[in-house]
Parts: sequence; structure tokens; C-alpha cells
Amino acid sequence: MSPVDYIKSHIRTVSDWPAPGVQFRDITPLLADPRVFRVLIDQFVHRYFDARPSAIAGLDARGFIIGSVLAYELNIGFVPIRKKGKLPFTTVEETYELEYGNATVEMHTDAVKPGDRVVLIDDLIATGGTMGAGARLLQRLGAEVIEGAAIVDLPELGGSARLKASGLPLFTLVDFE
Ligand code: 5GP
Repeated sequence: MSPVDYIKSHIRTVSDWPAPGVQFRDITPLLADPRVFRVLIDQFVHRYFDARPSAIAGLDARGFIIGSVLAYELNIGFVPIRKKGKLPFTTVEETYELEYGNATVEMHTDAVKPGDRVVLIDDLIATGGTMGAGARLLQRLGAEVIEGAAIVDLPELGGSARLKASGLPLFTLVDFE
């Protein structure tokens, strides 16, 4: 089995969660199995080893799990991009639209500096709103987002296509239709 199929086989689909009609892609079985977790992280390590990013930025909250391990493996720092209201120091924030209402993410103003080359990571891209807002935060602080990365893309929702059209390079491992 290919590494990507091995990874995909450990993502559990939970129907009608968190709302009727939603097929939630649950990555906790991926994290719980040490072999497949290592295969997963190694995909990203191999992808970014030569690019020598200056930091990994992870999106709240599952982006923290994979992003911090990736940063550790690449021997670089980790920057959390959090849902509003969780960070203690001075922040910048970006608001984006959800199906109903909107959401705000923020990061510390000193978390990156102009010229930093950052990989932005999350577990999944659906509408692309979260990844897009995170990229804008990093760019507003002068960092270059060398790539947005995620385990899963849901291409039918059009998020990854919109992000690419906006000029953000993207790398995802697994598609679910
Ligand atoms: P987007 O902003 O692209 O619409 O949604 C992506 C964000 O919502 C990510 O932070 C991701 O963790 C979360 N998310 C949305 N749907 C799912 C899903 O089916 N599975 C998982 N694991 N996360 C999801």
C-alpha cells in the first residue's frame, strides 16, 4: 500500500457530525497509531527539508498537533495561529466567513518577522477560509508563506482551488470527494 493510501485508510468518516448531512473526516485514528503517525509526519518532513523554512505556523487546533511535530523534526520554531481570545500578547487578527456567521483567528505580532519563510499547516481544507485567513496574517507581518499544507483536501468545496487562484501554493496528501 502506498504511504498516502496507508494514511487515508486511517482517517475515519463520521456521518452527521457536527450537524446533519456533514461527513466529518476524523484524523484521531491517524494520531493514535505510532506507525502511521510517523509515515504521516515523514511525508511533510521530506517535502520541506530542502526548502529550509524558518518556521512552521499551525492552525488551531489540529494544525498544532502535526505542525509542532513537523517543526521539531525540522529543528525550527512553531507559531500557533489561534481562535480569537486565546493569545495573551499583542495580536493581529483576520476574520473570515463561515456558512453561518464568521470566525476570527489571531497570532502574536512578534511571532514572525519580515522575510521569514513559513509553512502554514492544518489538518484539512474545506472552504479554505481558515487557511486563507492564516496566510493573510502571516503576510501582513511580512512573512512569505512558502506553502499551505494539509493532510486532507475536500476539493468539491472549492477551497483549495480558491486558495491556489489567490496565489497560495498548496500541498495536500489525501482527497475525499
Ligand atoms: P475551512 O475553513 O477550510 O472551511 O475548514 C477547515 C477547518 O475546519 C480546519 O481547521 C479543520 O480542522 C476544520 N474542519 C472542517 N471540516 C472538517 C472535517 O471534516 N474534518 C476535520 N478533521 N476537520 C474539519
